Amino acid sequence: MREIGHFIGGKAIAGKSGRFGDVFDPNTGEVQAKVAFASPAEVEAAIASAAAAQPAWAATNPQRRARVMFKFLELVQNEYDSLAKLLSSEHGKTVADARGDIQRGLEVVEFACGIPHLLKGEFSDSAGPGIDLFSLRQPLGVVAGITPFNFPAMIPMWKFAPAIACGNAFILKPSERDPSVPMRLAELLIAAGLPAGVLNVINGDKEAVDTLLTAPTIQAIGFVGSSAIAEYIYATGCAHGKRVQCFGGVKNHMIVMPDADMDQAVDALIGAGYGSAGERCMAVSVAVPVGQKTADILVQKLIPRVESLKIGPSSDPQADYGPMVTRAHLDKVKSYVDLGVKEGAKLVVDGRNFKLQGYENGNFMGGCLFDDVTPSMRIYKEEIFGPVLSVVRAKDYEEAVRLPSEHEYGNGVAIFTRDGDTARDFTSRVNVGMVGVNFAIPVPLSYYTFGGWKRSGFGDLNQHGPDSIRFYTKTKTVTARWPSGIKEGAEFVIPTMR
Ligand code: NAD
Repeated sequence: MREIGHFIGGKAIAGKSGRFGDVFDPNTGEVQAKVAFASPAEVEAAIASAAAAQPAWAATNPQRRARVMFKFLELVQNEYDSLAKLLSSEHGKTVADARGDIQRGLEVVEFACGIPHLLKGEFSDSAGPGIDLFSLRQPLGVVAGITPFNFPAMIPMWKFAPAIACGNAFILKPSERDPSVPMRLAELLIAAGLPAGVLNVINGDKEAVDTLLTAPTIQAIGFVGSSAIAEYIYATGCAHGKRVQCFGGVKNHMIVMPDADMDQAVDALIGAGYGSAGERCMAVSVAVPVGQKTADILVQKLIPRVESLKIGPSSDPQADYGPMVTRAHLDKVKSYVDLGVKEGAKLVVDGRNFKLQGYENGNFMGGCLFDDVTPSMRIYKEEIFGPVLSVVRAKDYEEAVRLPSEHEYGNGVAIFTRDGDTARDFTSRVNVGMVGVNFAIPVPLSYYTFGGWKRSGFGDLNQHGPDSIRFYTKTKTVTARWPSGIKEGAEFVIPTMR
């Protein structure tokens, strides 16, 4: 059986802890590889390798660092197809969707290619007599990223590309469920000219993460995953003096106003609700039609579309979505559908018993649609992360604004309407971090920032865009007097500009 180890000091090495996790083929349910779980000593070896490499990398001028990123872009693009297939074979998303996962990561690498410009500081000439004032952005040192299973290419790239471009060394702890693509990305970065040790990949579980969280050398931690773990990582990392940003669970609503183009809204809900089997942080899991008439039309249009979703093996180019990542996750999602029925929601499309011929042991699930879901139900309050869409009927626009605003998660939200006033009012008032107007998956492009609010985001700065440069650098401000020979005698009061 194939064994996946770690990537330390510029090369792949076997794990030595004797502890392993299973990497499944979600299409068949079979174990296709074993992934090593790092011991604290192996994590420490990665940290030591990063700490040794970082000073010379930070001293490499930003243009040269950018050239490594440009070359990396080219190398990943050369392997697009094989990487997408590899990703799909461990995650279960379709190959076409896996290409999007890689592409969205590469767009942040493209952003990081602008690092010479992004690191420019500020300069005030003659801020006082013979005094210049300026600011510098300096790397933090060794930083780490802990990433989830659902975007095994995109989220690691969102983390390591800006961090490395800023002059840091990076330790990545990818998801143990689909680790092969992050390992290959590390090899490609070395092939692109990154010095050994600047990016290390440690595979593992809580033991590896806890070692990173408490290691004094690690200056900052970026995390993406579920909220309970996000909160734990935020609290533990901060308690150990690190800069920490954590992005957690989600419950994204889509408001459908009575004046919306209903066919467009239905297309959007089908794609955003069921694409990637609902295992996306920007998946829409709650539809909020405004008014009974809108709700009746919407549900009647959704039912046949959910019933006719094409579910297939992840390699099938005709499939709308493939299997879920693991049997355990499939069981969890199905148990939420059971719960919804018990709570009194109306299950108008039931995909629980879907079986794919020839793939009976795969983690496949048909699309489910609930109507008459209420805010007090657990299926509304909690994240399900599967192909399950809940319709919550709002009596008016005010209730529709209130629902996502009062929900404990606040990652993304969308409104479908033809009315500019309503759209503008909604975008301004809704208490959620990312908003789409007639756009169901409002993932900002790489030169803006990505991040949710409330229990979807812990920490002050977002991912990618200008915030990523702020997160991975510290600002130094310099006050310099030239000519240095100006003599004013000893000053005993604080200098001011009076
Ligand atoms: P997860 O929380 O189970 O795992 C995320 C990472 O944390 C993995 O690397 C995992 O190994 C590690 N981990 C797991 N348990 C741990 C523990 N007890 N202590 C320390 N580390 C631990 O998340 P997942 O199932 O891989 O990913 C799905 C979740 O990620 C969903 O909740 C989804 O909403 C969320 N997500 C959020 C965003 C966002 O931007 N807000 C983006 C993508 C995914």
